[in-house]
Amino acid sequence: MANYQQMWKDLGMNLEAHDNLCAVLPTAFGDVYLSQENRPASMDFWDMVVADIHGIRPAELIEEQKKGRKVFGTFCVYVPDEVVIAADGIVTGLCGGSQFWVPDGEAVLPKSTCPLIKASVGARLGKTCPFFRIADMYVGETTCDGKKKAWEILGQDVPMHIMDIPQMKRAKDIEKWADEIREFAAVVEKTTGNKITPEKLAESIHIINEKRKALARVYETRKSDVIPISGKDALLMMQIAFFDDPVRCAQMTNRLADELEQRVKDGVSVFPKGTKRILVSGTPMAIPNWKLHHIIETSGAAVVCEETCTGTRYFENLVDETKTTLDDQYKALADRYMGINCACFTPNSGRIDDILRLAKEYHVDGVIDVNLKFCCLYDTEGYTVEKALKEAGIPVLGIETDYTDADAEQLRTRIEAFVEMLG
Ligand code: SF4
Ligand code: SF4
Repeated sequence: MANYQQMWKDLGMNLEAHDNLCAVLPTAFGDVYLSQENRPASMDFWDMVVADIHGIRPAELIEEQKKGRKVFGTFCVYVPDEVVIAADGIVTGLCGGSQFWVPDGEAVLPKSTCPLIKASVGARLGKTCPFFRIADMYVGETTCDGKKKAWEILGQDVPMHIMDIPQMKRAKDIEKWADEIREFAAVVEKTTGNKITPEKLAESIHIINEKRKALARVYETRKSDVIPISGKDALLMMQIAFFDDPVRCAQMTNRLADELEQRVKDGVSVFPKGTKRILVSGTPMAIPNWKLHHIIETSGAAVVCEETCTGTRYFENLVDETKTTLDDQYKALADRYMGINCACFTPNSGRIDDILRLAKEYHVDGVIDVNLKFCCLYDTEGYTVEKALKEAGIPVLGIETDYTDADAEQLRTRIEAFVEMLG
């Protein structure tokens, strides 16, 4: 592993605290990932990225900044990457998925805030994540109350642009989102110093669509009776997709998809025949949150799909590539992004339809609906999700968890009982 100490120092990071994080991550990754058997060979790319997660990509971003490019940090799948890329900017995801960052978040936020928000704020204020130091601008959104208030705190420390997301999806709300995208484009142009033209936006729409298609190809193989990749590996691919260069992401993901398609043809499965198939629905799992997938896949079941923002919500539906004026392109972007079904919308029946559809498409035996502790939106929607699944005759287990290991054994007991019940 290269030595990035000087880079982290130049970024103003708290090196001592960061060393503690670097000390635990490889063991956690080894225990959860490298213990798996018969992994696809193409996962070597993602293993390499994780092994140097605070080194390789941050160093690339800094090199690009030296050439004058700007980095935008985002926290939600509603923020359109296409706009940033059209102005020759770079997007990096910033959602925190580790308990390590939570105490620094709790220093300024109520404890009763969801761990994803606490970890994201803690990663910035504790100075222990290079991505949070590198980003020239953060892009927040008005999705949930916890995030809205967190942006006010982060905004005192770093330039922040907030996109006002509608709460409903009527025609006028979609128009409003197109307007928000247009305003965001103006901010991006000002920050980067580059003009967004219809040609450049068409190009970036195509780039991100290609990335979506590649991710969808991998998911497609998970519908097969032969399960060619574990849920844990698919989750890792998704988590890194938020940080990587989109063209390389598509390339590496297509390489993995080629291998998985071949595995399906050859009948190569990473789970024994008859392993129970699980759809995980609910709140996002930011890197390095592998807790639930690990418990499920070491309890006799396989995760074959994620109806989450680190799953299908990230790549389903493409942006219309036929539009040739900026106004039409912003509208096309608004149409695609408003097709994502997050619990922050009301009504949100589209998400119920998605879960029922995915359960069928991926031939699942049961659904585990997961809620990050203190996320009142997904917690409340859990009632409707469970009701719909029960009515459809699909077994469902609702669970609430956080980033700590405190409930791991209790979760294991419940999940093992659920899997046994499926049998
Ligand atoms: S769960 Fe909702 S608020 Fe969170 S990243 Fe997904 S779309 Fe955004
Ligand atoms: S998990 Fe829930 S509370 Fe946490 S950021 Fe997402 S929507 Fe907000």
